[in-house]
Amino acid sequence: MLNQPIRFVGMNGTSNYDAVVVGSGPGGSSAAYKLSSQGLRVLVVEQGDFLKPAMVGPRDPIGVFLATTFRKGDFFGLVGGLTKFYGAALYRMRESDFRETRLESGISPAWPITYDELEPFYAEAEQLFRVHGSSDGDPNEPPRSGPYPYPPLPHDPLIAEMVERLQSTGTTVSPIPLGLDYGPQGSCRMCGTCDGHFCQVDAKMDAEIAVLRPALATGRVDIVTGAECLRIVTDEAGKRVTGVVIRINEEIHEIVAGTVVAGCGLTGTPLLLRRSRNAAHPEGLGNNGGALGRYMSGHHAGHVFVLTGWRPLGNRHVKTFGIMSHYEPCVTWPYPTGIVQIIGKMPVWDLAPRVLRPLARALATRCLSFFYMIEATPTREAGVIFKGDEIAGQVPPPRNAKTFARLRQLTVTAFRQAGYKAIAMRNCALGHPVGTARMGDDPSTSVTDRDGMVHGIQGLYVADASVLPSAGAVNTALTIVALALRTASIIVERRALPEDARAAGLVAMPEIRHAEI
Ligand SMILES: Cc1cc2nc3c(=O)[nH]c(=O)nc-3n(C[C@H](O)[C@H](O)[C@H](O)COP(=O)(O)OP(=O)(O)OC[C@H]3O[C@@H](n4cnc5c(N)ncnc54)[C@H](O)[C@@H]3O)c2cc1C
Repeated sequence: MLNQPIRFVGMNGTSNYDAVVVGSGPGGSSAAYKLSSQGLRVLVVEQGDFLKPAMVGPRDPIGVFLATTFRKGDFFGLVGGLTKFYGAALYRMRESDFRETRLESGISPAWPITYDELEPFYAEAEQLFRVHGSSDGDPNEPPRSGPYPYPPLPHDPLIAEMVERLQSTGTTVSPIPLGLDYGPQGSCRMCGTCDGHFCQVDAKMDAEIAVLRPALATGRVDIVTGAECLRIVTDEAGKRVTGVVIRINEEIHEIVAGTVVAGCGLTGTPLLLRRSRNAAHPEGLGNNGGALGRYMSGHHAGHVFVLTGWRPLGNRHVKTFGIMSHYEPCVTWPYPTGIVQIIGKMPVWDLAPRVLRPLARALATRCLSFFYMIEATPTREAGVIFKGDEIAGQVPPPRNAKTFARLRQLTVTAFRQAGYKAIAMRNCALGHPVGTARMGDDPSTSVTDRDGMVHGIQGLYVADASVLPSAGAVNTALTIVALALRTASIIVERRALPEDARAAGLVAMPEIRHAEI
């Protein structure tokens, strides 16, 4: 039986929670899941609300498009974060992504942890998100402690033919690891609406379904929705976290907690740490070295449209393969290149100017869409620009223009050699952005330490996209989840140490005050 979402009723200065997790995206919800599964009482604070599924009949569309769910400017966060609308492609980053790598426009830094340290948490994340996949055709798949939890999804006949034609002309393809409730007992109906849509039959393993609901089911987690965390509070010396201040409607509550996990996402977390600045941390929590908001990276992504025939493709699940063989440097290119990934159907023509809509629709309904994605370089200049308590703008990470053009050319050539008409868009957008509160050993270039704890502030952790030092070229959500599980297990380990060890300063766990709400 799930806990019903509660409206928080609290008295200032009291709490009966061991930890407060702010934000319910994949980072925050995974941290809440792990902490509660180990016996901690957790309050999740989320500024958005639950998405309410409509009733769907067998003929109704299953997914609801992002742009029709929220009117322009309406989007204010939601339970599950962006994963309610994600494509559920759940890749592990490659071993080389954890090492320093030279890119065309600079350096992608070494992580403070290795792939091996994260591997057990990747395995756990794949179980929780029911990842269907296989290592076949993926030449840089990192070592795994076990197979994928589920076999890959079958290809739609149209895709099976495309895969065969690509393979027969020398292109190596591999299944996309997908987090779906697919199988004999599963609720997935293999429709075309994963990317950009929210699944009304709960078949897409987003953060709410995969980890938040099991966390609520423990009975040790409460969630308060429509609640914005205004700031994180520390002791006077600024060395220990003591709780958070939240606003529900116009009411302000202070919640005491010895552990606070910020999982507010790429811009939400740096903004919250900035707004929480105090006498001990005048520029923001974790910002004594000026790294807060900086080192943003992600993937520069472009579109390739591949025409498969003159008939509309209909609502079928096509998102089952990618091309991973250009990931690492090679004799003809000294830098990593990137990946190619098929994406689901989004009614993007609705967003085109009215006069162009019929043409855009005619083309898009007959083409398969692919992303070609390369790593953006996480420079110190790239990131958010603070103005007082607000974010006034963003500086994008530099483009690796030649690498981008190379991958576009490789992609188009592969499809043309296989006998397809392929049109590539030259413009690129930043996808899967990360950084802005990155982890590292040096407080002058990072916000958290290797365990996700904000430098110098015991009990305050970050678990979301902002903590990743780089993005590699694969989708980042599984890495966000794995890091959050790891950080939460470190929090649990520290609590398990004897009180005298903690008192001696061996661990970063402050006293927890319990009180009735
Ligand atoms: C259309 C689309 C498709 C995508 N497809 C994929 C994919 O296939 N694979 C993949 O790996 N990734 C994909 N992504 C990216 C992925 O969804 C994000 O990288 C991921 O959700 C980021 O997780 P996060 O934990 O950083 O936080 P978010 O998902 O950003 O969630 C943060 C949460 O914190 C809440 N919050 C913020 N500030 C506050 C505050 N002050 N108080 C209270 N709550 C707060 C927000 O409301 C939100 O719910 C996709 C994204 C989109 C938009």
